[in-house]
Amino acid sequence: MSQLKTYPIACPKCNHPQEVDLYDAINTVEDPDLRNELIGNKLNVVTCEECSFVFSVDKPLLYHDPELDIMIYWMPLHDQTIEEGEQQFREFITTLAHALPDDIPAPQVHLVFTRSELAERLFILEAELDERIIEYMKYMIYARNIEKVHPAKKYVLFNSHDSTEDQLAFIIQDIETRKIEGLLHYDRAAYDSLDEMFDDDEQTPDLFEFFPGPYISARELMLNELNREP
Ligand SMILES: [Zn+2]
Repeated sequence: MSQLKTYPIACPKCNHPQEVDLYDAINTVEDPDLRNELIGNKLNVVTCEECSFVFSVDKPLLYHDPELDIMIYWMPLHDQTIEEGEQQFREFITTLAHALPDDIPAPQVHLVFTRSELAERLFILEAELDERIIEYMKYMIYARNIEKVHPAKKYVLFNSHDSTEDQLAFIIQDIETRKIEGLLHYDRAAYDSLDEMFDDDEQTPDLFEFFPGPYISARELMLNELNREP
């Protein structure tokens, strides 16, 4: 069920306090338009009643597509660390599981911290791809191009728009300027062979060692590795 709730918000431009309706949760079967609003950066966007300034509110949001069985929780971090965010997410999942009847298994919920991560994860799951394999491919892109594609400065993002049946596309985005600086294509065979390799129980390490979760991010993994280096 989509949930709309009223929040007291102050306009970031003129400081005018006002009550606004924002989504806590969206269900894309009940409200199919909300998916595109979210992708188009139009969800939880407020127009100030005093000065007409338009701003988006980053707040926790549960995205649910019951048809494709996709659940993603977007939890903006604000001042918290990733570890604190993951801990808060675990508490959220426990509450969610308690709210369900006993005979319903706890749903698999994906955790993301930013609006663009939410859109990206949605594209990955809608394309029926495994998020850990995609993140592993992104990790390899960072590792092989560390000079040009440094995780502190660039996002590598899965790009469903330019992906085809034969190729998967990734974009390089500058974090500061938001400019798209490159488009990379990989044969889907590369994805399939990673899938096969990680599926093999004899093979170590497995993907869960790279990405134990709940937050799964190639960029974060790469940043941690760089920080560990002397
Ligand atoms: Zn205002």
